This record gives sequence, C-alpha cells and structure tokens, in this order.
Amino acid sequence: MALNNLADLFHDELRDILSAEQQLVKALPLMVKKASCPDLVKAFQDHLEETEQQVERVQEAFADTGKASRAKTCEAMRGLIEEASSMMKNDADPDVMDASLIACAQKIEHYEIATYGTLCTWAKALGYDNALTLLKQNISEEEKADKHLSELAVRINESAMT
Ligand code: FE
Ligand code: FE
Ligand code: FE
Ligand code: ZN
Repeated sequence: MALNNLADLFHDELRDILSAEQQLVKALPLMVKKASCPDLVKAFQDHLEETEQQVERVQEAFADTGKASRAKTCEAMRGLIEEASSMMKNDADPDVMDASLIACAQKIEHYEIATYGTLCTWAKALGYDNALTLLKQNISEEEKADKHLSELAVRINESAMT
C-alpha cells in the first residue's frame, strides 16, 4: 500500500490496533478460564469489558481520517496470543500458571501502550482532536491494567515459589 504522508501512516496503524484489540476480545476469555486467583480472574474479566469498549473507541477514531474503519491483522498481537496459548497448554501448578498469565498479559499491555503512545503522538501532530481524546482513554486504561497486574503479581509470585 502507498504511504505518502503521516495521515496515511496513522490510518494504517489504527487498522493494526483495531485488529489487536479484536484479537484480544477473543483471547481474554481463555485467560479468564485458565486463571485461578479470584482477583486475577476479575482483572481479566474487567479488562475484557474495557477491551470491548476500546474496539468501539478505535472504530470511532477512524472518523478523523475520513477513511474506512477496517482492521488489518496485527501480526505482533497474533504472536503474543500464540505464545500465551501454548503456555496455557502446560500442566502447571495453579499459582505458577497465574504468574505466567500475568507475564503474558503484561507483554500484551506493553505492546498496546507502545502502539497507543505512537498513535497519540501522531493524532496530536495531525490535529485529529477527536481521535486523540479516544486514544488517550484507551492508553490510560492499558496503563491502569498493567499497574494492577504488577500489584497482583506480588502475592501471586510469592505463592508460586513453593
Ligand atoms: Fe486494549
Ligand atoms: Fe501491530
Ligand atoms: Fe517470545
Ligand atoms: Zn489491554
């Protein structure tokens, strides 16, 4: 595809994060099922609900571009989810599984934070104010989710020691 300017690049990256979020809507229920710690189960369930709203916000963000809201497969998210899926096939102690689920989830959150960070910078440069507002909401949810997982990891890692 032809990328002639920053607006083209922004649209292309928006298509990527739309795919990433859509893939997560499908993957998070499997992580909910694999988690044992009730707090972790709740964290994944809550983030699934947020992720559904994030998909809608990304779709709305396309309005500023004047181009179609159409996902383009995010290969990075596909890889991160694939790693999580094969990890979940392990016969692991429940606490160890939880510790590993947190690790997988944080890799995912960090990828999302990196992508939204770039998208916010570009939206600002392009004067896409509406998109910027929506993307800022998404990045702040990702940052909160990431911090919450770090907090849960303290006790879960301790339990996974033995
Ligand atoms: Fe997300
Ligand atoms: Fe991507
Ligand atoms: Fe890897
Ligand atoms: Zn997320």
